[in-house]
Amino acid sequence: MKLLISKCLAIVSGVFLLSSTLHAAQPLAAAEVKAALNSAYAKYKDLQEGANADYIPALAKVDSNLFGIVLVTVDGKVYSAGDVSSEVSIQSISKVFTMAKVIEEKGEDAIFGNMGVDATGQVFNSIVAVEQYQGAEMNAMVNAGAITATSMISGKSRDEIWGKILSYYGDFAGRKLSVNQEVFESEAATNQRNQAIAKLMYAYGRIKDNPDRATDIYTEQCSVNVNTRDLATMAATLANGGKNPVTRKQVLGNEHVPRVLAVMATAGLYDDTGKWLYRTGLPGKSGVGGGIIAVSPGRFGIAVISPPLDAAGNSIRAQRAITDISNALGGNPYAVAPAQ
Ligand code: GLU
Repeated sequence: MKLLISKCLAIVSGVFLLSSTLHAAQPLAAAEVKAALNSAYAKYKDLQEGANADYIPALAKVDSNLFGIVLVTVDGKVYSAGDVSSEVSIQSISKVFTMAKVIEEKGEDAIFGNMGVDATGQVFNSIVAVEQYQGAEMNAMVNAGAITATSMISGKSRDEIWGKILSYYGDFAGRKLSVNQEVFESEAATNQRNQAIAKLMYAYGRIKDNPDRATDIYTEQCSVNVNTRDLATMAATLANGGKNPVTRKQVLGNEHVPRVLAVMATAGLYDDTGKWLYRTGLPGKSGVGGGIIAVSPGRFGIAVISPPLDAAGNSIRAQRAITDISNALGGNPYAVAPAQ
């Protein structure tokens, strides 16, 4: 049964009008999903706001008009609008999946007890945030915590560690992924700040050894090429209790998924994570390549790629399209009908 509650909330910034529809959790109707995607695509395709990230020179060259939307349901249905096959570098969205791998290998306390699971209130590559609690009381969605998570993946050699990370991402996406060499080289040539952050995390004992190698692998993981369908399938795997709904492979232990989603909900969209959660209720993660993923647990994963970012570093079209689509489909897990 479909329950329509309907509300319009004028959000303080005035940018979004939030209209939510509450649905009992039930399979999504194909026509409804297609209509939601097509309508968001049409509404935002000509929006010209924001700018590509340019602090990594190769990102500035990516086509700003690229715009693709994909939604994958937990029963493996794939819906799309716009450009779903062009690839961009995954950037910070990779942090989710490396953290998941660490949890899978070392258990949930490894993350909790090392870099922590709290928002920093600082920018994603903040050094102040590291200094405040000596590398603790932060999370694996900001660079210090993410590079540390990468350093925690076990392996005898760089090749072994890297191979594990890349194939793990591929299991989430449901296909073999590869690295964008131009982006990797561009970021490796300009990542002195991340190198400094890793050294600090090493100084505080959060990274146990070889901070330079951890930064190098982290930089490579950020350079993995993905298209919108890959990202949506990765999100849908989280929505489906860690089992890829397309390949049917259990990629992450079901019991670990709530921890991964909790960290995404806390810190997935940089300093605007609270605003995002307020509007959508969805654990999400953005990357400076222009992608955003969001997870409606037990229902669907959704991804949008569109490179122009706002001041907080989040893709403008992606935020708006996902907000509209999820709210139209009743994706907000906090929005429930009262018991009768
Ligand atoms: N590779 C980027 C960096 O470390 C990722 C940033 C992001 O997507 O937020 O600066």
